[in-house]
Amino acid sequence: MPIQKNSVVSFHYRLGRVGGEFIEQTDNHQPAMYLHGHGNILPAMEKAFEGREAGETFSLDLTADEAYGQPDPNRQGRVPIKHLLNAPKKLRPGMQVQINTGQGPVDARVLKVGKFNVDVDANHPLAGTDLSFDIEIVEVRDATEEELSHGHAHGPGGHQH
Ligand code: ZN
Repeated sequence: MPIQKNSVVSFHYRLGRVGGEFIEQTDNHQPAMYLHGHGNILPAMEKAFEGREAGETFSLDLTADEAYGQPDPNRQGRVPIKHLLNAPKKLRPGMQVQINTGQGPVDARVLKVGKFNVDVDANHPLAGTDLSFDIEIVEVRDATEEELSHGHAHGPGGHQH
């Protein structure tokens, strides 16, 4: 069954930076899963899956612009430590934190820690990175009515609820 709109796709992937460095991969026993045609994954990735079938393997390189975009300097800045949600007592560069903003919590990475303020970067951790995927399609099936009404896949690798 070729992947088309409303297919539920299970797949394994290995993700690295173009040119080498390993980033992450799916667990052997737990493929990732998504509902095709609903914007659940990167648009360029969804396009590369279109029409493929279970058992196919392929490589996919995405430029940063096709993936998570370029880092936005406006998403870096200095915020008072008291504006962090559940901040650990000992903040360190590299930590992931949440900033309490008027528009809700925003995930960010700590760059530098001061006495009352912290420099943070709220860009996606892979912004500015060209990505290289090795993909294996494990299973393709039709979505259930419930999955279609929720707009995402259910079950292991998908949403659990
Ligand atoms: Zn759901």
